Amino acid sequence: MKNISILGATGSIGTQALEVIEANPGLYKVTSLTAQSNADLLIAQALKFKPLMVVIGDENKYQSVKAALASTGIKVLAGEDALCEAASLAETDLVLTAIVGSVGLKPTIAAIKAKKDIGLANKETLVVAGDLITDLAKEHGVKIIPVDSEHSAIFQCLVGEAFNTIEKIYLTASGGPFRGKERDFLANVTKVEALKHPNWVMGAKITIDSASLMNKGLEVIEAKWLFDLDVEQIDVIVHPQSIVHSLVQFNDGSMKAQMGLPDMKLPIHYAFAYPDRISSSFKRFNFMDYPELTFSQADRSTFRNLDLAFEALRRAGNMPCIINAANEVVVNAFLQNQIGFLEMSDIIEQCMSDISFIAKPTLNNYLETDELTRIFAGELVTK
Ligand code: NAD
Ligand code: MG
Repeated sequence: MKNISILGATGSIGTQALEVIEANPGLYKVTSLTAQSNADLLIAQALKFKPLMVVIGDENKYQSVKAALASTGIKVLAGEDALCEAASLAETDLVLTAIVGSVGLKPTIAAIKAKKDIGLANKETLVVAGDLITDLAKEHGVKIIPVDSEHSAIFQCLVGEAFNTIEKIYLTASGGPFRGKERDFLANVTKVEALKHPNWVMGAKITIDSASLMNKGLEVIEAKWLFDLDVEQIDVIVHPQSIVHSLVQFNDGSMKAQMGLPDMKLPIHYAFAYPDRISSSFKRFNFMDYPELTFSQADRSTFRNLDLAFEALRRAGNMPCIINAANEVVVNAFLQNQIGFLEMSDIIEQCMSDISFIAKPTLNNYLETDELTRIFAGELVTK
């Protein structure tokens, strides 16, 4: 029996994780659940999975959650600090970080310090402070098991290869809903169009990131830290069918890929069961449904975010933190119809050139950079 805590239980990853837990009775016990604002779903989840603790981020909803769970003995907390408590419960073995955004940083640190293994969906945390997080995980003997499908693929390809040399990795990208489109088309796309991902149903932020290729950019940075790679060892290849989830090329030229239907429950299931594989009833791949798997180069001049992310990784220091914070602001602004699709990259680039660079940031430097960038990007949005 593995005891699992889910941060961001009401989101796309969180709800699929609970489906995985439900489908494997006797294997997993839920210890804590958190949500930002969807109190009704959090209450329903708590009544079903009976965790020790729930946290509702929005403090205005605390009383209603508390009242609904009054007879259950489940501890109910509210607010940002409580997330760290939910992440470090003594009873927990593994914390699934399924919160969206850099707000996941502090609870992830709390979980690692409490020696909890991490099932990492919240890629923004590794983008912001990958050096600190990976050092801390080493120091506390904590495993970080990727849930992001590409990184789960690489992780699975590396099982049994601990003493072998990776030449490079290829992260596959679907290309999103605007693959093949030009800049004049993108200038006028709406959020409704951007939210229609061809292969995956996900939260709003990552869906916009997929349309703008920032998701792949963030994943490049995430891969650097998860697999201890140099930037030159990471490449991106567009693969619209999303069947090959990513590939590793070793120093003998041999390549390993992990494949399967696009279903996030698979990498979640793998992260929960790791190092075992546990049988599942997920739909199986049929070659005749996919007679062609195709690959092409990303259009980096149209989708500038990918190069901006590579540049942030090359410049290192707090630059990935800047790009992440700026991106969180512009995605939100795009979702609120405040700016156009192409303006997102313009504002991110402006933040990268104007926010003070710090070569060796501390945690406080990262938190300050995150805050300053959000303020500056917010001003650029309203200009
Ligand atoms: P989502 O928007 O569907 O869910 C986000 C969750 O985080 C919700 O439970 C919400 O209550 C919580 N949350 C939001 N803001 C919060 C805040 N300020 N404080 C505390 N909690 C907050 O997002 P998602 O699609 O499930 O993505 C979650 C993470 O997983 C993201 O980092 C994303 O990049 C990553 N990821 C998602 C997918 C996917 O298929 N959805 C795939 C790979 C990686
Ligand atoms: Mg991914």
